[in-house]
Amino acid sequence: MRTFYARDLFTGLRRATREVKVGDVGIGGANPLRIQSMTNTDTRDVRATVDQIESLAEVDCEIVRLTVPSVRDAEVLPEIRRELAKRRITVPLVADIHFTPNAAMLCVDHVEKIRINPGNYVDRKKFEVREFSDSEYAVEIEKVADRFRPLVLRCREVGVSMRIGTNHGSLSDRVMNRFGDTPRGMVESALEFLDVCESENFYDIVFSMKASNTQIAVQAYRLLAQRLNARPSPPGGTYPFHIGVTEAGDSEDGRIKSAIGIGALLEDGIGDTIRVSLTEHPIREIPVARALAERAQARWTADEGTAGTQLQQVFTADPYSYERRETTALELAGLALGGKEPVRVELDLGPVPQRNLDAWSEAHAKSLAGQRDVACESIQLALSNLADLADLQAIDSLRRTLSKCGLDQPLAFAAPASDATDVDSLSLDLSERVSRLVIRIDGETSLRACEVSARFSQRAGIALEWCLAGDLAGLSALVDRALDASRSAGQTRLLFSCSVPRANHGARRIVQRLGERGASNVPIVLRHYAAGDSYDRSDSERAIVDVAIDLGAPLCDGIGDMVTLGGNDDSGRAVDLAYRVLQGARLRATRTEFISCPSCGRTLFDLELVTARIKSLTEHLKGVKIAIMGCIVNGPGEMADADFGYVGSGAGLVTLYVGHEVFARSVREDQAPGRLVELIKDSGRWVDPS
Ligand code: SF4
Repeated sequence: MRTFYARDLFTGLRRATREVKVGDVGIGGANPLRIQSMTNTDTRDVRATVDQIESLAEVDCEIVRLTVPSVRDAEVLPEIRRELAKRRITVPLVADIHFTPNAAMLCVDHVEKIRINPGNYVDRKKFEVREFSDSEYAVEIEKVADRFRPLVLRCREVGVSMRIGTNHGSLSDRVMNRFGDTPRGMVESALEFLDVCESENFYDIVFSMKASNTQIAVQAYRLLAQRLNARPSPPGGTYPFHIGVTEAGDSEDGRIKSAIGIGALLEDGIGDTIRVSLTEHPIREIPVARALAERAQARWTADEGTAGTQLQQVFTADPYSYERRETTALELAGLALGGKEPVRVELDLGPVPQRNLDAWSEAHAKSLAGQRDVACESIQLALSNLADLADLQAIDSLRRTLSKCGLDQPLAFAAPASDATDVDSLSLDLSERVSRLVIRIDGETSLRACEVSARFSQRAGIALEWCLAGDLAGLSALVDRALDASRSAGQTRLLFSCSVPRANHGARRIVQRLGERGASNVPIVLRHYAAGDSYDRSDSERAIVDVAIDLGAPLCDGIGDMVTLGGNDDSGRAVDLAYRVLQGARLRATRTEFISCPSCGRTLFDLELVTARIKSLTEHLKGVKIAIMGCIVNGPGEMADADFGYVGSGAGLVTLYVGHEVFARSVREDQAPGRLVELIKDSGRWVDPS
C-alpha cells in the first residue's frame, strides 16, 4: 500500500508523533502546538539577550532559540543562564548552530535543545558543481557521520534534544549535486543525519524543512513525513516537526507567506511547534504564531476521534511537487479563466443597493483606484431572486452606473437556486451582459431547484458556478446533485466553489468528487467569506491568517482558477490582499518579492531599517526578487532563488549579489542601497516608478 504523508487529506486529523522534551516543554505527542521564536541580539551581549528572552517569555513564547556562531558565544551561555535564573525565567533555550561543531559541543550543558543545519554542520558551501560517484558519496557521508556522532552521543548522555533543521537555501554542495535544491534534496540531507542518530539509539529529534518559497516548504515537509512513515518507527512513534517559512520578510507579506506555508501544513495535520520568521522584533512573531496555532488546534480537537476518509483517495496527482490542476478554459463575457490563464481576482460586492447606487459605485471605484498596481478582474453582485435577471433595463442601467465610475469589469450575479415556474419559462440572452451565474446550494436545495437554475443559465448563454454550502460531509452529494442538474439541462460551462468554514478541505473534496464523476477539468473558484471581516490586522492577526490559508493552501496544491474576496467596506484592500496571497503562493507576481532574514546574533546591520530603505527604492519592481540578509555566513546560501542579494559582510559593509554571483564586495553601507539600484539597472530589470 502507498505510504501517505498525512492521516487524512480531507479532515484535520493531526499527525501522530512521539513526544520530544525540550526541558519541561513537550513537543509532539499529546502536547498542544508549541510557539517559539528566536532572539536577534548579539548573543555575547548578555544583558540585551536576556532582556529579549524575558520579553519573549512575557508574551508566552514557549521556547527561545539563540544563535551560537562561535565558541566565544557558547562560552557566555552559563552567564545567560545565571541571569535568567536570577529573573526566574524558565523558558527552555535552543542553541542555533551552523558550521561550528565545536561550539555545539560546548552548548550541550547549557541549553535544552541544539539545532543543527545538516547543510552546513560539517560541509562548507562553495556552490561547486561536481559529480560524486556512489563510493565518493558514501565516503563523504562517513566523514559527516564521524564529525556529527560526538554531538549525538553527548546529547543522548545529558538528555538534550535536537532539531535537524534543513533549509532549502543551504543544502550542501554534495546534496545539491546529487538531488538539486529540491524537496527531495532537503529530505535526503536530513535523513543522512537521522541515520547517525538512530544508529546511536538517539531519538529525541525534531525536524524542520524550511524554505522561503511556500510551495517548496510545504512539499518538503510532506515528503519528509511520507519518508518517515515508510521507515521503522522509533520507540513512541515517529518524530515531531517544527514548521516555518524562512526569510518570509516583514509586514503583511511576511505574515501572508508564513500563514500560507505553515497553514497549509497545519491543514494536513502536520506540525508540532511553530516559528513565524519575520524581519521585525521577535515578539511580533508571537501573535501570528498564536493565531495559526489556535485555528489548527480547534480543528484538530474537533476532528480527533473521527474516522477520517479513505487515504487512497487523492485530490492531486503528486503532493510533493507543484502542478496546476488542468481545467477547461472559459471565456466569460470578456473574462478568460481556467486553462493556462493566470488565477483571476474577483471582488464580491454583495447585494446591489436599492438606493444611492451612484455613491456606492463611486466609493468602490475610488477604493479600487487606490490600488494602482493590481487590477480587480471581475465583480460579483448578489440578487435576491433569479428572476431579477429578466429585467434587462435594470441590468443595463446598473452596468452604465458602474462603468461611469470606472468599474468596467465583467459582472457575475449570485442568486439563490429557484424552482419557480416563471423562472423556468424565462428564455433570455444574457451572454453579453453577465459573465456567469453563481448559484449557492446546500443540503436543503431540491434537485428541481438545481435543474431550473441550470436550465435558466443554459438558455441565457452564461456559465454557471455552483457554490456549495453546508458541512464538509455533504459536499460530495452536492457535487452529484449539481452535476446531475447541469447534465439534464445541457449546461456544460461549469465552475464550482464552496462556502464552508473549512475552505481548503472543501475545495479538495469538490476536486476529488468531480474527478470521480468524470468532470475533473471543471474550474474551481476559491472563496473566503467572513461576515464583517475587514481584513484589518490592527485588531488581530487572525483575519489575515484565515484569508491566507483558505486561499493559499489550495493554491499551493494547484487548485484554483479564480479567488473571490468580499469587498466589505474597502474593495481596494480586498483586491490587494488577494494579489498578495497569489504572490505568497508563488502564482502571480505583481510586486517586488522581498526575501529578508529575521536577523539574529550574526546580523551586521539594522535589518528592519535597511529592509525598509531598500523597499522604498525598489517596491515598484514587479516580479523582481531581492534578498536582504544579515550576514555573509548564512546569507548567500539562504537567499535561495533571489535575483539580487544585499548581504551584510562586515561592520558597515555589504556585499551585493546577482543570483549567487558576487557583484561587489565590501560596499559601504551608506552607499549600498544606491549601488543595488545601479546593479538592477545594469541587469535590465529596472523600470522607473510610475
Ligand atoms: S542570514 Fe540572517 S538570520 Fe540567518 S544567520 Fe545570517 S543574520 Fe542570522
